[in-house]
Amino acid sequence: MVNGFHPTSLQEALAIRSQNNVIPYAGGTDLMIGEHRPGSYLFLHGVPELKRVYQEDGVLHLGAGCTFTELLEHPLTPPLLKEALAQIAAPAIRNEGTIGGNIGNGSAKADSALVFFAADASLKLESVSGARILPIRDFYLGRKKLALQADELITEVLLPLRWLESYVYQKIGARNALAISRISFAGLLAVENGVIAHAAVTFGAISDVVIRRADIDSMLVGRTIAEARALKEAYLAAYSEAIVPTRGRVSAEYRKTVCLNLLHDFLEQFGV
Ligand SMILES: Cc1cc2nc3c(=O)[nH]c(=O)nc-3n(C[C@H](O)[C@H](O)[C@H](O)COP(=O)(O)OP(=O)(O)OC[C@H]3O[C@@H](n4cnc5c(N)ncnc54)[C@H](O)[C@@H]3O)c2cc1C
Repeated sequence: MVNGFHPTSLQEALAIRSQNNVIPYAGGTDLMIGEHRPGSYLFLHGVPELKRVYQEDGVLHLGAGCTFTELLEHPLTPPLLKEALAQIAAPAIRNEGTIGGNIGNGSAKADSALVFFAADASLKLESVSGARILPIRDFYLGRKKLALQADELITEVLLPLRWLESYVYQKIGARNALAISRISFAGLLAVENGVIAHAAVTFGAISDVVIRRADIDSMLVGRTIAEARALKEAYLAAYSEAIVPTRGRVSAEYRKTVCLNLLHDFLEQFGV
């Protein structure tokens, strides 16, 4: 029997978190295969507030305790997120694994986090002292380094729905099923009145943190497709400099080449 606390409300969970050295435990699919860490567990599956999904002012609020399966089956989950979730592991893992755990694990291989970066999502972090909202890009400080205080829990992902409709998602693993990403890519591009109104691309699993460079993507915004085509080489060159893969099982050169090919294909799909 694993030692731990079993709160039945968020208030109770936060009180326990503030008074004890506890490890938040959602689905346990990462924790159970990781190194043993000192401290007892704070089991979150009995906290109903972490399961809420609702839409407000164009933003979808996803409870951190929602499992991948629950979100795959939810009518409000946008297609891009569903596509990424459907390719995570196998049903048994998707039934237990949560988006809060995916983010809380602090890995750039996290497939739901990739989508949240592409959408410029924010996280709601709560403690007994209150709540704060932090953009996901500011939450990841490095490999396994998160801007999470010892008394805080991730309680929600705030996913802006605008711009999510027109996308490309690619996950490259070692095999078709049950594969952790070796390279993952999500790209959004929206054209309004003949002009690119929004562009965002993200690369996962190749460096310590998911790559999202709004400064580079802004090169395309406000341009017609023809103008963007003229800028394509400069845009690809900027990403070629920005993508610096860490050493992994597959060579850094190979992964960088694949990333640039994915980016090239993404642009071509939109006629750029
Ligand atoms: C066989 C297998 C295949 C997998 N395939 C994939 C895959 O294809 N893609 C992918 O992205 N992942 C994959 N994973 C990894 C894992 O399933 C996911 O990262 C999952 O989202 C973890 O969620 P969890 O609820 O199980 O997290 P847990 O194991 O419970 O927790 C993970 C970490 O997050 C922290 N945490 C959890 N909830 C919170 C919270 N609310 N607030 C603060 N911290 C929190 C925990 O303390 C822990 O450090 C795989 C794992 C296995 C075992």
